[in-house]
Amino acid sequence: MGGAGVPVVVGLDNGGNSNNATVLTMDGRFLVDGLVEIPSEVRAGPEAAIEALARAFDGVLALTGVPRELVRAVGLDTPGPASATGVISSRGSTNFSQPAWRGYDVRGALERRLGLPVSYANDGNAAALYAHHVHFGADAMSRSSVAAIVGTGLGGGVVEAGRVVGGAAGMAGEFGHVHIPLDGLLAPGQQSPVCACGFTGDAESVASLTGIERNLLPYWLARYPGHPLAAEEPSRAAKLVRGYGERGDALARQVFAQQAMALGRLFTIAANFTDPHAYFVGGGVVEAAPEFRDWFLAAVREHTVLREEQAAVATFALVPERDMAGARGAAIAALEAIRVGGGPLVAR
Ligand SMILES: [Zn+2]
Repeated sequence: MGGAGVPVVVGLDNGGNSNNATVLTMDGRFLVDGLVEIPSEVRAGPEAAIEALARAFDGVLALTGVPRELVRAVGLDTPGPASATGVISSRGSTNFSQPAWRGYDVRGALERRLGLPVSYANDGNAAALYAHHVHFGADAMSRSSVAAIVGTGLGGGVVEAGRVVGGAAGMAGEFGHVHIPLDGLLAPGQQSPVCACGFTGDAESVASLTGIERNLLPYWLARYPGHPLAAEEPSRAAKLVRGYGERGDALARQVFAQQAMALGRLFTIAANFTDPHAYFVGGGVVEAAPEFRDWFLAAVREHTVLREEQAAVATFALVPERDMAGARGAAIAALEAIRVGGGPLVAR
């Protein structure tokens, strides 16, 4: 570790339980190899959370031995929904449930607290940006990609010419709430899946932990009487399905086959919308056993309908370093915001 006097940006990834932090040199080297986590204090409200982010900032500088004077900017990412400039949604959210969070400008507050320019991305966008720059390296600024990140919900991002497409209200790349065709995806007698957002048959209603719990498991457990997951509480059962899938369990494979098909149909929409160079899949599946991970990615690829010309140039890959993608993507966004001139943002 240690950057030998090179200016840096700091990436801060805010989550419901913890903050992770990283340091990226202006010439594209990450100075932190693993997670640097401290409690995020998000449930204690905005003021406590801003102090926790400041502690994460100080902590990662102490760890890397980088003096504060060398920090040029800070990148922050949080779960959404939030505006493009880091104002938490006025409707509240799962992570920011306390009323004081509604309409709170988390980016502006951190900028005032640290006295440094702070750029903002939602966590899905940050992970998408990280996947893009690691995958394409020196070519990143002339390539495009989409990333779908399967978690509690389904997040992600659209990257065009190396930059995240934010949208007018900051809500571009909300892949979870894009409607997908359900014919041939649902099994006979399976009810149309409903998303927490109120839509029926959007991508998140199938390809998310919430979708497994509410829509997929109830159907498949009824088809596999006596399956051990039936004895579990639903939210716990949803988290356990992946482990069963890794061991080749038939029910679990049915669940993940439906998720892979949903992602393939989502990517088919992307293929006709922005025609990206790369399609990334992120989330818990990245950490799964290699056989299961490869099976899943191949199934996503199989259900993505590309024209011959597209298939010749497109690649499918997993988002690397799932746990660190948020902080690293936030750091890349900060570097992009302040850097002039070309060259890769991440050295490979
Ligand atoms: Zn939805």
